[in-house]
Amino acid sequence: MDDENFESQKLKNDAVYDFVRDRKVVKDPKVLTKSKFLNGLQCPKLLWMRCNAPEAIPLPSDRLQQVFDVGHKVGELAMTRFPGGARIQEDDFLRNIEETKTLLAAANPKPIYEAGVMAGRLFSRADILVPSSLGIGYWDIVEVKCGTDLKDVYLQDIAFQRYCYELAGLKIGRCFLMHINSDYVRDGDIDVQEFFALVDVTDKVALLSGEIKKTIDGFLAIVDMPTCPGISIGKHCNKPYECQMKLSCWAFLPPGNVLELRGNKDKAFQMLDQGIVLLKDIPKNAKLSDTRAIQYQCALAGKPHVDLPAIVAFVKGMKYPLYFIDFETIFEAIPRFNGTSPYQQIPIQFSVHVQEIPGGELKHYSFLQKSPADPRKDFLDSLCACTGIQGNVVVYNRTFEESHVLNKMKDSFPEYESRIADICSRMADLLDVFRSFLYYHPDQRGSASIKKVLPVLGGKSYKDMAISDGGQATTEYSRVTYGDQVDPADRQKVYTDLEDYCALDTIAMVDILAALEALQKG
Ligand code: SF4
Repeated sequence: MDDENFESQKLKNDAVYDFVRDRKVVKDPKVLTKSKFLNGLQCPKLLWMRCNAPEAIPLPSDRLQQVFDVGHKVGELAMTRFPGGARIQEDDFLRNIEETKTLLAAANPKPIYEAGVMAGRLFSRADILVPSSLGIGYWDIVEVKCGTDLKDVYLQDIAFQRYCYELAGLKIGRCFLMHINSDYVRDGDIDVQEFFALVDVTDKVALLSGEIKKTIDGFLAIVDMPTCPGISIGKHCNKPYECQMKLSCWAFLPPGNVLELRGNKDKAFQMLDQGIVLLKDIPKNAKLSDTRAIQYQCALAGKPHVDLPAIVAFVKGMKYPLYFIDFETIFEAIPRFNGTSPYQQIPIQFSVHVQEIPGGELKHYSFLQKSPADPRKDFLDSLCACTGIQGNVVVYNRTFEESHVLNKMKDSFPEYESRIADICSRMADLLDVFRSFLYYHPDQRGSASIKKVLPVLGGKSYKDMAISDGGQATTEYSRVTYGDQVDPADRQKVYTDLEDYCALDTIAMVDILAALEALQKG
């Protein structure tokens, strides 16, 4: 997962959590909740669908429960930062509102968790309401997020809540965002003071207040429209997070469409607006960057682009023996092990294929942590034992293995520092060939991912694998390793599937390099 996708995943975690909670609690689909309000900011069509045809919105199924559990655990932890409060019944909409009213009117106010209020057609439920130091009868809003910094969408979220509470007659003092502190390092029990960053966003939220009534009135008008507003696809489909409706809204796009153009999508969306759907229909005189021009030419010719001299230089630069390596990781909002931080990539598995000479026999080594214990030391031990002291270590996206995994372990395991430095210094990144378009096949559809490159160059595919991507590997590993009441046969099957999946990643690199070598021989 690249950095941009990783950040977007954290945002999506919050969105999915709110989405599921809303569905569980608010039965009237035409009530505007904060998650629907945020949907409206992203796209009027999405808002309308949420309120008028919610069954047509696919749930992000495979990771849903896990994402929901993460949000729930972070929320539970956040409450302990404001102890002594009252927890309101979460799953019963009307009871939630009634209990909130009682607690808000109490003679000795105390923090309220999950306080729900209804104001006209608006429903809001703050994660935590705290008696404010600004005066008797005032309450501070504390919104808890799984993200690690302040995002505009969080401010909009809090602005909606503030408006809704004030409409219901509450006096709101200050507004706080409580997000995860990415610099926190676990040492024993989670220290909630350090784990969360509490940011006073009162002034920033106030800046949004002037527009909020107009925005909400506009959204309620959209909700009441008899038919879905016609909205074209655009950058908004991925901002602030990938829309759940993309599968259906983007389904009309055929292979070879202009959205496959690499990089910023502004121009591609402009082309779509002008009726240019296919790459090959782009006017000949259109100005395109070098890489986009390659995609265009490939679409016209229906053939791959090969920068043979550069590929030959890359292949000749390889120093044997070659160690093809790939890691699988978990990354959790609440760090599981001492010495680790929120969302740190913790390696739980590797596959290494070793090849002594070009086209030579392969030796395979693997590691998979099969217990809930901290895997990092055994991982490093095993990795160092099978990666030799000379020859290239071949990876696919060096940033991940080097920066996100190996270098992050140096502080906890200083005795491995020189070995980590040696492995990293020997890395050769196969992704460079495809990211810089030394080779490009139209069937890659604009992607340099190994999942797209392997079928066109290596003739294999991930599609029949029981585990077929990194996200699924993480989810399944966590489920069977840290979950309760897991059937041993289920656990063993997942471990076998993980071994197969990780091994395919390194075999894929072997095959891709062999295919590149074959290109130079014609
Ligand atoms: S995919 Fe795009 S156009 Fe479709 S509902 Fe989502 S944001 Fe709107």
